Amino acid sequence: MNKETSLYYSYADYLREQYGQKVYKLPVNLPVTCPNRASGEGCSFCAGKGTGFEACGPDVSVADQLRQTREKIEKRYKAHKFIAYFQNYTNTFLPLSRLLSYMEEAAGVEDVVEIAISTRPDCISDAYLEALAGFREEHGIRICLEYGLQTVNYHTLKKIRRGHGLAEFIDAVLRTDRWQLPVCAHMILNLPGDSMEDVEESARILSALSLKMVKVHSLYIPEDSPMAGDYLMGKLAICSKEEYLERLAAFIALLRPDIVVERLFSRIPEEDAVFCNWGCSWWKLMDEWTDLMTRKGLRQGSLCAYLNGPALKRMDKE
Ligand code: SF4
Repeated sequence: MNKETSLYYSYADYLREQYGQKVYKLPVNLPVTCPNRASGEGCSFCAGKGTGFEACGPDVSVADQLRQTREKIEKRYKAHKFIAYFQNYTNTFLPLSRLLSYMEEAAGVEDVVEIAISTRPDCISDAYLEALAGFREEHGIRICLEYGLQTVNYHTLKKIRRGHGLAEFIDAVLRTDRWQLPVCAHMILNLPGDSMEDVEESARILSALSLKMVKVHSLYIPEDSPMAGDYLMGKLAICSKEEYLERLAAFIALLRPDIVVERLFSRIPEEDAVFCNWGCSWWKLMDEWTDLMTRKGLRQGSLCAYLNGPALKRMDKE
């Protein structure tokens, strides 16, 4: 983070520091599902097709998906190195040998410098972590694990049918850290039922863990998701845009300054959604949030006073 000018430590800055150039994430869809969908309806905000909106279908080989997506985005974003992003569903729900063979295919594609694997915190065993760390050593390629948490409020986690609580997430982060594999947490700051207090506590808990990155989403409700029915019947209270911007400002200000922030708002197609970003463009939200942070004199970590900081209670005298 440029400490003088930046409001937060952006993913683009981090990648430039790591690789010395612009690096872009290419989504890859693997033929996998999710244990939460396999055993029930899945999370209440989850679309039938999951999250791999920009990627090719899983019937296309990993190498071809990477090449095709690269072609589409290379000129637009002027990036020449890439991260293969196993994005959709729960990628460690695949048998280990199959996951490793897809990784092998991705690592063999020219200019792929990293593999990011999206999964659930209750679907990562020590055996998988050991194998992923071994793969990194053998192939000299970085590997990052992305765990969906969404909120630290375990009552909300139950209501949205995540199928795991906060403890599983903490356990996954601590175990992953033993293999020195970086972790990114996915968070939604405006889940129905959550308040500013939950958002503030989320920032504190993530900061106290050995987390490398966080990806913040604003709630997106696809029309085929279980949550869509309740939303359309007026049974869901979603906070206002202004409240979301306040929550996001507090979250970033409380977040440890060395945690990389990958995203601040959802950036997904609006056509299949019954609710997305209050009907505002990503740029407008970004501008309004930047104004708010500036007016309040906040930036990432500026309120991070715990973690052995000024909020620590001390005896004045011996
Ligand atoms: S864990 Fe992910 S893929 Fe599975 S149901 Fe929830 S949001 Fe969907």
